[in-house]
Amino acid sequence: ELVNLNELYNYILDRFDMMLKNEPDNGKKNKRYSIKRDFTRRELWVEIDTDKFIQVIDNIMNNAIKYSPDGGIITCRLLETHSHVILSISDQGLGIPKKDIAHIFDRFFRVDKARSRAQGGTGLGLAISKEVIEMHGGRIWVDSIENKGSTFYISLPYQEYEEDLWDEA
Ligand code: ATP
Ligand code: MG
Repeated sequence: ELVNLNELYNYILDRFDMMLKNEPDNGKKNKRYSIKRDFTRRELWVEIDTDKFIQVIDNIMNNAIKYSPDGGIITCRLLETHSHVILSISDQGLGIPKKDIAHIFDRFFRVDKARSRAQGGTGLGLAISKEVIEMHGGRIWVDSIENKGSTFYISLPYQEYEEDLWDEA
């Protein structure tokens, strides 16, 4: 369906803020985090499957929390280009070794088995995320520096909403 992405992204992040407030034991080993939002003020309407999109952002956010030290800042951005919307999620966590970056979206791939086993999970989250984003004609990729953090990017095809075109005319 046609969705206001600013609203949907805010809604997903609000749930992570609430989890922190309402459930100190939130299943993330009491990990604390704070979320910073840097969104375009322009309303971006995109044609997406809402439930699947929520699943993708949930996984990337859960990863950002899981693979970061306590108290990390997670920065979430939303911006647009002529033809795409771009969402990004940056953490201050463990980062991903250079040699592993190419495999991060493979099924069952996990950086450093020992480190990952302690955290729980199956290694499917990002493979599913990639499938969903590509199904929408978009792309997903990551920039990461070990021991500094990671930024996951999602781009989706974007057509300016008709009303915006009228506004500018
Ligand atoms: P699942 O999501 O299925 O519960 P998972 O989180 O291990 O398990 P993915 O989300 O696919 O699986 O991530 C694959 C691997 O990529 C992770 O095991 C982890 O090693 C690495 N990874 C993912 N996100 C980050 C991140 N933000 N920082 C550091 N490493 C990450
Ligand atoms: Mg995951």
